[in-house]
Amino acid sequence: MKLKRLLIFLIPVSAMTAKDPTIHYSIAFPEAHAHYAKVEIKLQGLQAPYVDFSMPSWTPGSYLLREFAKSVERVEASADGKQIPYKRIDKNTWRIASKNASEIRFMYHVYASEWSVRTSFIDADMAFMHNTSLFMQVKPFSALPGTLTVELPESWKQLHTSLEPVDGKLPAGTHRFRFSSYDELADEPLLAGNQDTLQFEVAGVPHLVAIAGKGNHAEVSFRDDLKKICETTTAIIGELPCKRYTFFVLNTEAGGGGLEHANSSTVMMPRWQWNNAARYKQFLGLCGHEYFHLWNVKRIRPEALGPFDYSKENHTRMLWVAEGITSYYDELILRRAGFYTREAYLEKIAGYINDLENRPGRHYLSLAESSWDAWIREYRPNENSKNTGISYYLKGQVVAFLLDVQIVAASNGRRSLDDVMKVLWADYKKRPERGFSDEEFVAMVNEVAGKDLRAFLDQFVNGVDTPDYAALLKIAGIQAVNSGKEENTLGMQVQQENGRWIVKYVERGLGAWNAGVSANDELIAINGMRIQTGLEDIYRVMKPDNSANLLVSRAGLIRNIDQVACRTVKRNLWKLEAKGTDELLSSLLD
Ligand SMILES: [Zn+2]
Repeated sequence: MKLKRLLIFLIPVSAMTAKDPTIHYSIAFPEAHAHYAKVEIKLQGLQAPYVDFSMPSWTPGSYLLREFAKSVERVEASADGKQIPYKRIDKNTWRIASKNASEIRFMYHVYASEWSVRTSFIDADMAFMHNTSLFMQVKPFSALPGTLTVELPESWKQLHTSLEPVDGKLPAGTHRFRFSSYDELADEPLLAGNQDTLQFEVAGVPHLVAIAGKGNHAEVSFRDDLKKICETTTAIIGELPCKRYTFFVLNTEAGGGGLEHANSSTVMMPRWQWNNAARYKQFLGLCGHEYFHLWNVKRIRPEALGPFDYSKENHTRMLWVAEGITSYYDELILRRAGFYTREAYLEKIAGYINDLENRPGRHYLSLAESSWDAWIREYRPNENSKNTGISYYLKGQVVAFLLDVQIVAASNGRRSLDDVMKVLWADYKKRPERGFSDEEFVAMVNEVAGKDLRAFLDQFVNGVDTPDYAALLKIAGIQAVNSGKEENTLGMQVQQENGRWIVKYVERGLGAWNAGVSANDELIAINGMRIQTGLEDIYRVMKPDNSANLLVSRAGLIRNIDQVACRTVKRNLWKLEAKGTDELLSSLLD
């Protein structure tokens, strides 16, 4: 598919004959203030009895059905200039009886008001266009090139995208781009408005940073730091597979997150946190993460992750490779680019191990299952998620580190996970049209390690065993010690909401769980005393090895819960220290 796309891309749109069917999308913003975009899809020369227009249900990279069709309205269609009706044939698809007409126009409006990295946002000041949420797919044209015209309101002076511009004179505020297939159109966001920009080059490839929204980004050396991150990341594989790269930075009120694309990424940063050193470093890690995806997932990928079916879930057991390995590298990139000392880096990794090993769900869900279920677990967490599962990001990152150690030790420091990525890259270049199977991945790891690591992978990817960290890390000279940390606890987390103390989480197997306290219970009293300050009041009464009576309200009904026991539990607290010879350690830590 990728190869076919490339060949088609080499034929300029203008060189196609008059008989070749063409597709042209256009988007305008006459109601930007109300968060609407107006889209038109023009088909010429198709000659088909009917045509289906389908809105994607999800955005690649974000594994949740978002049903973008729900935001479509005011649909109209015409064939050779005459208005014709449409028929809905499923949740995503509008069908028109085009009866071999030579020109078809299909128009609709889309509501876009979600400020996130995976959908679109439009208001009077700007538009962040995330194309799976805007442009319908027309199946006969999926693998064909086309063009996109964007008409901006007069006050929006800039438009940034990694799509290839089409030369030619256009009215002021109008921009035109070409794409080689629907996949490319769907994958390349556009940002329009009056955003700040930064520019730099990596390996001769121009990089543009477009920053939307107010923030204190000018207070840090973001351009230089990001360039260093990109150069360090590029050095892993040794070549940069794009002609241009765009970082879309969305300044946001709170929170974060990112999404990868083949030639760009979107990253969010709290707008006034840029001068908070720890938060800024975390954000640089996110930028490295999304940039590493330029290779790992957008090109090197498990079979299920492209070409995509936009209408339904695309399952894989290998999201731990796509996301876990990428998460492992985002910290390693920060270390290699000089943002962490060795000690700080090992402390970070130990922190991830502790997060994983203190989560009850690690005994119940394997990495492969967590990946398969991303659509219904990772992206749809509930109050019991920590008890029932793990994240393929977190465990994937820990397993990636352990795997790196096994490869370094097996090859006496001559090979590392970097070499696995290089082999995967060479494999991608041989057959870009399809991703690797689970078996092919294991074979490539073994080839690099020079040792059969199938049992290791099977144990920690398909199984739920707790890794013997001390033994697994010792072979590369890393000392792992679990000193543990004692905690007196009932095993629940609470939060104040509208003046009430609400239980948010009950930990499997501890006192609150065993006595029958439930998430969403409102805590009213302990041993007959009104709870005013949440857990503080509770732990004033509760001591290790005693138990208490809790009065709660559940769905408006009062109930007494007896024998809620407080216990001393030992939490995992791993510490990692570099102890071995530099030959092995420098492959892992530098
Ligand atoms: Zn990712």
